[in-house]
Amino acid sequence: MTKVRPIEIIGGGLAGLSLGLALRRAGVPVTLSDLGQYPRHRVCGEFITSLAESTITRLGLTSVMQDALHHQQVAWFNDGRQLCTQHLPVPARAMSRHRLDARLAHAFVAAGGRLHTQTRVPDRMPTAGCVIATGRRRSPSPWIGLKIHVCNLPLFCDLEVHLGEQTYVGLTRVEDNRVNLCGLFSRRELAAKGSALIIAYLRAAHLSALADRLENTDFDEASFCAVAALGFDQHLTASPGEVVLGDAGALIPPFTGNGMAMALQGAETALAPLLAYSRGAREWAETCQRIQLALHRRFRLRLTTAAVLHPFLLQRLRQRWLLRLAQVRLLPFRPLYAALH
Ligand SMILES: Cc1cc2nc3c(=O)[nH]c(=O)nc-3n(C[C@H](O)[C@H](O)[C@H](O)COP(=O)(O)OP(=O)(O)OC[C@H]3O[C@@H](n4cnc5c(N)ncnc54)[C@H](O)[C@@H]3O)c2cc1C
Repeated sequence: MTKVRPIEIIGGGLAGLSLGLALRRAGVPVTLSDLGQYPRHRVCGEFITSLAESTITRLGLTSVMQDALHHQQVAWFNDGRQLCTQHLPVPARAMSRHRLDARLAHAFVAAGGRLHTQTRVPDRMPTAGCVIATGRRRSPSPWIGLKIHVCNLPLFCDLEVHLGEQTYVGLTRVEDNRVNLCGLFSRRELAAKGSALIIAYLRAAHLSALADRLENTDFDEASFCAVAALGFDQHLTASPGEVVLGDAGALIPPFTGNGMAMALQGAETALAPLLAYSRGAREWAETCQRIQLALHRRFRLRLTTAAVLHPFLLQRLRQRWLLRLAQVRLLPFRPLYAALH
């Protein structure tokens, strides 16, 4: 009988952990290393669009995600005014990364996976059986992502999106009556920390109405996090002999609310070819090629569409155009939504 080949995963975010869990449940020996430990907060809108039930089932995530909130209404704000609302064709899920990543890590270990936390794996040549899921690649960029949880903040809608100067911010409810506030901002030199930094960024982006609304709310300062060097990709990247999943392959702009689903869908796409490799039915080079081709087919359209639309979310004049079209119902929302997911 052929010996089962082990898989090594570098990076324990959504892509790495969900893949590791699914492989373990199929009997594959898996070792996973991550820089950090669990639970931990991450810069993320925590709003998961278009994640099909079939993906959740295939990856064995039903119990992990069973109490995720379901959201469908999105309200768009400009200059402090609510300009239009939209009904998502498919409800989105919402759960904090603090909870989701910790549950995945726990399930992975419970399924027999070997997890090394606080372990940095250095860059190296592609190796057979090694999957890279290390998150966004750092690249010089003018953007910074900021996130914090706010307690007991009433919302006007399931998801509020506020458009500001070179900025967009989303607010959505996650578990325990917390609201996750997360935004993409143009980077500035502002001398503040935690919630005070977020308020300063909101004011600098002419989002004063939102800043005023938040001024006396109850922030969970421990949930504050920031991430810079965010380069958004239009093309998937992987060298020959490499399997690269999630943001490490391509980072889709966050307004799509689709990066988390893509990380999980990437794991789903890679699962069958990796199982075939592990069972000795296929060699590594062919496994990599098959996965890269399948990822390309699955994500090409949404990455291109997101790259074209992103400036409309950030630049004042284009934001006004976008919202005007949405108000008079001339924005082809459903076809755009379909292209982005
Ligand atoms: C501002 C902002 C808002 C967003 N909002 C949303 C949203 O609302 N909805 C949505 O779906 N997506 C959103 N995203 C995107 C989403 O967060 C990512 O797409 C998702 O986290 C990708 O998962 P991943 O597993 O690829 O990477 P990550 O979750 O980043 O995990 C990568 C892991 O690799 C580890 N790692 C890195 N290097 C090494 C190394 N050398 N050795 C060992 N471990 C390493 C890291 O510690 C990390 O845990 C947002 C992103 C940003 C920046």
